[in-house]
Amino acid sequence: MNNINYQRELDRVISLHQSRGETPRLLLHVCCAPCSSYCLEYLSRYFLITVYYYNPNISIKEEYLHRLHEEQRLVSEMDFVNPVTVVEGRYDPREFFEAVRGLEQEPEGGRRCEKCFALRLDSAAQMARDGGYDYFTTTLTISPLKNAHMLNEIGAAAGETHGVKWLYSDFKKKEGYKRSIVLSKKYNLYRQNYCGCIFSRG
Ligand code: SF4
Repeated sequence: MNNINYQRELDRVISLHQSRGETPRLLLHVCCAPCSSYCLEYLSRYFLITVYYYNPNISIKEEYLHRLHEEQRLVSEMDFVNPVTVVEGRYDPREFFEAVRGLEQEPEGGRRCEKCFALRLDSAAQMARDGGYDYFTTTLTISPLKNAHMLNEIGAAAGETHGVKWLYSDFKKKEGYKRSIVLSKKYNLYRQNYCGCIFSRG
């Protein structure tokens, strides 16, 4: 079932709420400012967004904080149709190392990443449920290096576990990735050259 059109599913949800004159609340898990730039520009037209920065996979603290501060700066500098706020999640890299134990040598895109996604999306699902959000999702599907099918499967499962709706997405569609590069230049965003964990640092 790798051929699901997640963008079409997102279009369907947006149209449904637009036809009812609704602006649902969305908890958007964000990995970094460049990836979030397009997602925020696009989704903030239709949702009331809270950015959820929960990334214990970035075990180098300076890197973690740099990406967080870039995210905060981006949100403060962008113009949105509906307001966007930022919430920082707990930061404890031990949660990541525990989740991926035994998978440290896996190639990027493999089982280590699956566990890393599950850790972050499970936390986002809990946060969305506790905060009474209508939906939650992640910016991670914008990356051409990330498996959108895997992310959507994991997100939907986390949503089912915690009783909150997962918003399907594949943000690289509709030229999303290209637009994120344009926006990153416009806002002079820091673009890291590795995913986040020390195993992806090369
Ligand atoms: S490469 Fe990226 S997605 Fe994979 S485990 Fe490392 S930080 Fe997580």
